[in-house]
Amino acid sequence: MQVTMSCKHPIALVLLGLWCLTARAFELLPEKVGDNVWALVGEIGGRTAENHGLNNTLGFIVCPKGVILISSGATPAGAHLIEQTIAGITSKPIRWIINIGAQDHHWLGNSYFVNKGAEIVALGRTVKAQKQYVAEHLERLKRFVGKEAEAVRPVYASRIVDADRADLTLGSVHIELIWPGNGHFPGDAVAWLPDQRLVFTGDFVFNDRMLGVHPFSQVVEWRKAFKRIAALEPRVLVPGHGFPGPLAKAQRDTGDYLDFLVEKVGKALDDWKDLGETTDTLGDAPQFRYLKFYDGWHRRNINRTYLQLEGAQ
Ligand SMILES: [Zn+2]
Repeated sequence: MQVTMSCKHPIALVLLGLWCLTARAFELLPEKVGDNVWALVGEIGGRTAENHGLNNTLGFIVCPKGVILISSGATPAGAHLIEQTIAGITSKPIRWIINIGAQDHHWLGNSYFVNKGAEIVALGRTVKAQKQYVAEHLERLKRFVGKEAEAVRPVYASRIVDADRADLTLGSVHIELIWPGNGHFPGDAVAWLPDQRLVFTGDFVFNDRMLGVHPFSQVVEWRKAFKRIAALEPRVLVPGHGFPGPLAKAQRDTGDYLDFLVEKVGKALDDWKDLGETTDTLGDAPQFRYLKFYDGWHRRNINRTYLQLEGAQ
């Protein structure tokens, strides 16, 4: 019936067009992962204007006094979408934000929630890295999401924890904020809920997509940090990217790949193989081909791991 109407009436056609646009709008996918705990799964692919730079996975905990949000998104518009998505699940206000990373989508939505009275909590080393890289991240964000990035106003945590492991009680929830070591990005941390054996790993864990070794990532340290997270014996891991899952999934998608990079590239260096030979030999790793971005990232990861390990010799 609507189609017939739309043919006859230009306004109906416009409305139908708007409906189609709305239907395609980017959404965060809520997934319940524990008692009053949810993951918000964003885009697995890249940052775009449509996804507000939310190509990561966030999460939240509902407690009697309000909501604790893990990561605030990359822009105020993204923060608004996070708020709307949470409002579909609970009417409680977002009262606390934990920043577990220094990359844009972990914290550049802070200003939106601070304007509504939320408190931002982070480790000192996370805030330090945010300050160090903010100009670079804003520049990059503008390239990906366009005008929306102009509304970003960097706001840092008002409650800074100067430790590498700290017990927090927010609302009535016990959370440990832990720095397990260096990894994907300086200042990355994890939020551990010991009572539920659930961990928000931030960018220490990439599920479903291949992790990226960047010039600022420290691959040997990252592997150690992953093992420290695994030693918590979590029941559920909410990753920095991709869908939540048990340790076995994170082990397969991230832990095994870090092992591969460090062990295989390390062996190539021990055998005096040069960079080109190493990349050619290890460039085909069918066991990881199921991960999204394998084609774009795998050879680059080998290349960067080689240069890091060689530089450390
Ligand atoms: Zn990330």
